[in-house]
Amino acid sequence: QNTIDKIAAGEVIERPASIVKELVENAIDAGANAITVEIKEGGISFIRITDNGEGIETSQVPLAFLRHATSKISKVEDLLNVASLGFRGEALSSIAAVCQVELITKTAGNLMGCRYLIEGGTEKGMDEIGAPEGTTFLVRNIFYNTPARKKFLKSPMTEAGYISDLMERMALSHPEIAFKFINNNQTKLHTSGNTNLKDIIYGIYGRDIAANLVEIHVEDEDVSIDGFIGKPVISRGNRNYENYFINGRYIKSSIIAKAIEDGYKTFMMQHKYPFTALQFTVDGRILDINVHPTKMELRFADGQKMYQMVYHAVKQGLSHREM
Ligand code: ADP
Ligand code: MG
Repeated sequence: QNTIDKIAAGEVIERPASIVKELVENAIDAGANAITVEIKEGGISFIRITDNGEGIETSQVPLAFLRHATSKISKVEDLLNVASLGFRGEALSSIAAVCQVELITKTAGNLMGCRYLIEGGTEKGMDEIGAPEGTTFLVRNIFYNTPARKKFLKSPMTEAGYISDLMERMALSHPEIAFKFINNNQTKLHTSGNTNLKDIIYGIYGRDIAANLVEIHVEDEDVSIDGFIGKPVISRGNRNYENYFINGRYIKSSIIAKAIEDGYKTFMMQHKYPFTALQFTVDGRILDINVHPTKMELRFADGQKMYQMVYHAVKQGLSHREM
């Protein structure tokens, strides 16, 4: 059991940023509108994530750490229309298998909160504690029991950089949530939660980019695309500024990237990449997100249709811009 968890953990948990991703997604799924992420030493020794979501019922706490424990899918049909970010029930068991975890959580219905300790998959304690409604995860010493894997981590600065990038994408994909990211006691990112995508872009990327955006909005029966594409004056030398989110999830899709770049290319002399922040809302029936445990890749039932839609949205958006 313990070994299986450690192996499964390898698929989901590669580095501190993977832990932050899973726990922030859980906080979003729990309905939080304020999420604070604090790290030390690039998240290698210390990650604390606090949310004001619905909390976990005391009796459910130990169960949440079991492999394939998920409260999010009750019927098979749910798989076709997954609205929540998590659904595989692998994150908590995987994190607990390779870290030292302390959880404090309280629901609206419980008078007292619950504090739960688990290390290397072994429960270390559970007691009652006064706590505000919501959940705090404290995750210490990633891979403390799998030193071979710890060797593959990069420097604290590089690991912190991955987490910082992730937090920016989380903020871009959820303007309605107040995010705070603190690295070594310094606040690196802070969004207010009652703002729009453009303000978040301004906060993260600065005036130069925010002042040179074209708004995109297109929709058909099962897809809508909203957001911004950068004008060619702010084109980039690499793909790092291509952000797109599907149903609130940051993903990679070669079809979408190609469509964005092909649409953009018609306005460019040299081969450069655009800034984008596009939010796709897609009917779950034409999606397959269950491709990889980290849920980063995505397949479309009709890739060609998706390509055409994105390509034309980009091309038309840019051709109508004021020069
Ligand atoms: P999944 O997200 O795929 O369901 P996880 O292992 O990430 O699986 O989480 C297991 C369960 O623990 C979730 O289904 C949810 O019920 C509960 N949970 C985890 N994190 C939180 C949180 N921050 N707030 C409320 N419930 C949570
Ligand atoms: Mg999850």
